[in-house]
Amino acid sequence: MSRVPEGVERDYPLERLTTIRAGGPADWFARPETSEQVVELLRWADSEGLQIGIVGSGSNLLVADEGFRGLAIKLAGELTRIAREGDRVVCGGGARLPSAAAKSAGWGLAGLEFGVNIPGTVGGAVRMNANAYGGELARVLEGVTLCTAEGSERRKPSELGFRYRDSDLVAGEVVADASFALAEDDPEAVKARMGEMRKRRKEAQPSGIKTFGSTFVNPEDPRAEGRSAGQLLDAAGARGLHRGAARLSEKHANFVENTGEATTSDVLAVMASARRQVHDRFGVALEPEVQLLGDVEWPPDWELPE
Ligand SMILES: Cc1cc2nc3c(=O)[nH]c(=O)nc-3n(C[C@H](O)[C@H](O)[C@H](O)COP(=O)(O)OP(=O)(O)OC[C@H]3O[C@@H](n4cnc5c(N)ncnc54)[C@H](O)[C@@H]3O)c2cc1C
Repeated sequence: MSRVPEGVERDYPLERLTTIRAGGPADWFARPETSEQVVELLRWADSEGLQIGIVGSGSNLLVADEGFRGLAIKLAGELTRIAREGDRVVCGGGARLPSAAAKSAGWGLAGLEFGVNIPGTVGGAVRMNANAYGGELARVLEGVTLCTAEGSERRKPSELGFRYRDSDLVAGEVVADASFALAEDDPEAVKARMGEMRKRRKEAQPSGIKTFGSTFVNPEDPRAEGRSAGQLLDAAGARGLHRGAARLSEKHANFVENTGEATTSDVLAVMASARRQVHDRFGVALEPEVQLLGDVEWPPDWELPE
């Protein structure tokens, strides 16, 4: 193996870096602070044939119990900054989206309010095209700096393949920063809109639990008849379904909750059973929103009958 770049750690536990608090360690782990360091790490991983996993706030991430046999990267230092440039807000990919939303509101800049309740980073939000309450990341994004093993380059939103809760970004492409084109507004009006969103969220979703938020994406299948994944799960009687310490939340059927020491296998078992129930009842195959890291093994009932 070639010289391991400075700061790279071995056998790093990822469990605490995810909001569901489950999963095993990464063989290699680094916290780069500049885009140059990110590129150096990606080059090293590329030369060693190591897979790349990027961990933002881990709020949409499920790590295999056996861990990840590659290099996990978590952005730090200047890659977490949030700065104003006129009507623009420039954030490091590791900046927290709720902080970017709150700072923008304080600066009297509107457009990022939807991010107040999304507990992820700016990079994770770009990768996932995060959205809430009619606001969507793709709509305010002006451009990103993307790091790959080849170097870093600017990309426009039209080059990122945005769609509902997804994009074309792949594992070796790291969002090092993102700039948002916002509109001037009265700071109190922006804050009031955010307060309203917080209130609505509190009523609809459980808080203070270990979860990765929505488990399945809302299906487009006509047999769903416009119902959300949560509504289908509920109608199929999956609310409260549990395996080990993993359970579908009583308050929001599309949220898996880790009620204690749940393993990733427990979470996968709940997901497979719930998906099977929905399929048996409505013929709809729910697809996961949560991103997987490592060799995650689905239980046999994940495969649906014809
Ligand atoms: C309670 C709760 C509520 C939620 N509500 C919403 C909601 O309303 N709307 C919504 O859209 N989502 C919601 N989510 C899901 C989640 O917060 C978002 O998907 C968020 O954008 C994920 O960001 P993250 O930094 O946590 O990414 P992670 O979970 O760490 O990673 C998710 C994916 O993004 C990739 N990634 C992370 N950082 C980068 C980067 N810098 N460059 C490239 N790829 C990267 C990862 O490799 C992985 O594939 C919720 C989650 C929770 C727990």
